[in-house]
Amino acid sequence: MSTVVRIVADHVYVNDDDGTVLSAGVVEIDGGLITSVEPVSGSRPRGEGVLDLGESILMPGLVNAHAHTPMSLMRGVSEGHSLLTLEGWLGAIRSLEAHLTPELVPASVAVSCAEMIASGTTTFADQYFYAEQYLPVIRDSGLRAAVAYGIVELGDDDARAAGLAAAEAFLESAGDDPLVRGWVGPHAFFVDNQLEAIDAELAMARRHGAGLHTHYGTSAEEEEACQRDYGRSALSIMREIGLFDVPLLLAHCNAIARDELALLAGTRATIVPAASVAMISGAEAPPVREALDAGVNVALGTDNWCGDNNADLFEEMRTLGKLAAFTAKTPNSIPPRELIALATWRGHRALGGSDDDGRLVAGAVADVIALPVGALHRGPAGAQSLASALAYGASGFSSTDVMTAGRWLKRDGALTTVDLPSARAQQQRDFDELMARVRAA
Ligand SMILES: [Zn+2]
Repeated sequence: MSTVVRIVADHVYVNDDDGTVLSAGVVEIDGGLITSVEPVSGSRPRGEGVLDLGESILMPGLVNAHAHTPMSLMRGVSEGHSLLTLEGWLGAIRSLEAHLTPELVPASVAVSCAEMIASGTTTFADQYFYAEQYLPVIRDSGLRAAVAYGIVELGDDDARAAGLAAAEAFLESAGDDPLVRGWVGPHAFFVDNQLEAIDAELAMARRHGAGLHTHYGTSAEEEEACQRDYGRSALSIMREIGLFDVPLLLAHCNAIARDELALLAGTRATIVPAASVAMISGAEAPPVREALDAGVNVALGTDNWCGDNNADLFEEMRTLGKLAAFTAKTPNSIPPRELIALATWRGHRALGGSDDDGRLVAGAVADVIALPVGALHRGPAGAQSLASALAYGASGFSSTDVMTAGRWLKRDGALTTVDLPSARAQQQRDFDELMARVRAA
């Protein structure tokens, strides 16, 4: 039996550098890959293996390049705190995380995966503790993921040895599944992972063909530590030891040195701004326009959802677009087509995907989503580009269909892989248990 699927839609947003839209178009998928993308000429295809989505836009699925899926367990608790500062974390999260145990995590990971799928995300990068505990939940969701094992060692020999050993065991157990891969997750270089740990983490990533996922430049802490301890800038040290030669996610980068962005140009490092979190936290705006102009790869992340932000990357696109224009005092500082690029092919590049991934072209991964035309609230024909309507008018939760690697994760408005009501009910029981522990302490 053929596994070929041909998806027809009124508009196919190819996501190439020319902004091509096929109206209508047909995308053929076979074995997890896109095999052809063509305009519909004459009558629309029909018959076996053809799915006609009618008045819809078909586009590449979105990539969330910085998430902490277990933390939906604590959504809301950090309201009024900035988790980008140590003080905020101590005030809002530490007292809960101190009582967290692995069995309280999987249901929240399922909730997070379900919300990502529901809002059109098909690939994500995760970083947290207990990754070995919840890897099966991510596999069951059908999402494509790089799951980084969180490491905090604070210069302590025992903590470093234990963290590295656990990460190594996790990477071995994750195996070579091409859809859900194990990565290395130092929480923050030079802040809670010292140079000895960083060297070992880089070597581990190389051994396993994995990447590194860390926080960087949430404040100037790394820079101050490196100037104090080594008399040099953090980015120059990171470049010299080879950190930019492997896939490296630098989440946030609010305080990254503007005059050193060129050190990242053309490397495998990606900066991952989380615009909503930056704004909610009252942090500095990350220099996204400057990074792109310098030739640095940039992807989008939501960060954790503790501060009441949400999973919807369309929301992140327009939040970043507005933040960049507001801070630069330049309209359209990051144009809509470029915002979509940050949420799609640049995210795949960040995670080590091919140059075609995140576009609707033959050879790319079959990660696609569909939104009804009416959900875009688009201006009159000829007045507003489709890219503008997507970036500024769409809600990811209005997506009807979501596919990763040729498998439907949401079909005709319904999730197909995650039982969200059950996961939410378990998450509530987990939260109640966590709070009972906090009260009893
Ligand atoms: Zn984070």
